[in-house]
Amino acid sequence: MKKISLVVSVYNEEQVLQIFYDTITEVLKTCIWNYEIVFVNDGSVDKSDSIIKSIAEQDSRIKYVKFSRNFGHEAAMIAGIDNASGDGIICMDADLQHPPEYINSIIEKFEEGYEVISMVRTANKDAGLLKNITSSAFYKVLNFMSNVKFEENASDFFAISNRVAGVLKTEYREKVRFLRGFVQSVGFKKTTIEYEAADRAAGSSHYSIKKLFKFSINALLSFSTSPLKIGAFTGCFVGLLGLILMIYTIIMKVAYNAPSGYSTIIVVICFMFAILFIVVGIIGEYIAILFQETKGRPIYIVEDKINFIELENDKVN
Ligand code: UDP
Ligand code: MG
Repeated sequence: MKKISLVVSVYNEEQVLQIFYDTITEVLKTCIWNYEIVFVNDGSVDKSDSIIKSIAEQDSRIKYVKFSRNFGHEAAMIAGIDNASGDGIICMDADLQHPPEYINSIIEKFEEGYEVISMVRTANKDAGLLKNITSSAFYKVLNFMSNVKFEENASDFFAISNRVAGVLKTEYREKVRFLRGFVQSVGFKKTTIEYEAADRAAGSSHYSIKKLFKFSINALLSFSTSPLKIGAFTGCFVGLLGLILMIYTIIMKVAYNAPSGYSTIIVVICFMFAILFIVVGIIGEYIAILFQETKGRPIYIVEDKINFIELENDKVN
C-alpha cells in the first residue's frame, strides 16, 4: 500500500500539539493510504519536545526530528521532506490552520497522477485585512519581477510526490530561499486545491511583520534579478534628463545670458545620489546572498531523531 507523509513544523506549539495529533489521526484513519507524520521541532523552548516524544513513544508512525536550535519554518519543512519516506508528502502547519480534511482530496490528486499540489487560500480569517492585502500585493510584485509565474495566495500548505521530494533533497539547497517558489518552479504535473484557512487552534502566530518583510525580500531576491537592472534603467532615464537640462541651460545662456542655476545643480545632485545609494544598497543585498551561499553552512542541524529505525523496517517490508 502507498504511504502519505505529513511534514509538520513545530515551534512553541505546546497548546495545539495534542489537539493537532488527535484531529489528524482521526482523518488519517479514513485514508486509503498508509501514513506517517514527521514532526520537526524547530528549536521550541516550551513543552513541545516532551509532548511529541510522548506521542512518538506510543505510535511508531510518528517520526520526530529535533533541531539543535531555531532555524525557521522553511528549514523545518526542508528537514521534514528530507526525512519523509512516503510516496506523497504533505507539508502543513501544526496550528490546524491548514484543514486536515483536505488530506483525502490531496491523496485523490496523487492517485490521478499529479505531483505538485498547491493549496490556495481563498480567505484567511486569522490574518486580518492588512496581512491579506499585503500578501496579495507581494505575489503581484513577485510575478511581475520574476520569470516563474507563482500561484497567488499559495501557502506553506502543499503536497509533492516523492519524485519532486527527490529533487528538493538534492537540488535547491539554498540558504536564502523561497520554498513555495521552488515547489512551484520544478515543473511536473501540477494542480491546485482551494481552501479556507481556519483560525489558529490555540496560541499565537510566530510571524512578526519584521519576519514577513525579510521573508518577502528574500523571496524576491532569490527569484528575480530585475532589481539589479534598476541601475541601468535609471542611468538611461537620468542621462536623458541631463541632456534636456543641458540643452535648456545652453539656450538660456545664449539667448538670455542667464546665470547658471544653483538650485538646479542641488536638485540634480540630490536626485542622483539618492538613486546611486539605492542601487548600491540593492547590489549589497545580492552580495549578502552570495556570501551566505558560499559559506556553505547547513540549512539545519539535527540534535535528535526518534522512530527512524522503524523507517528502515518499513522499507524492508
Ligand atoms: N514555525 C516554525 N519555526 C518558526 C516559526 C514558525 O517551525 O520559526 C511553525 C509553527 O509552529 C507553525 C508554522 O510554522 O506550525 C506556521 O507558523 P505560524 O502559525 O506562527 O504562522 P502564520 O500561520 O501566522 O503565518
Ligand atoms: Mg498559523
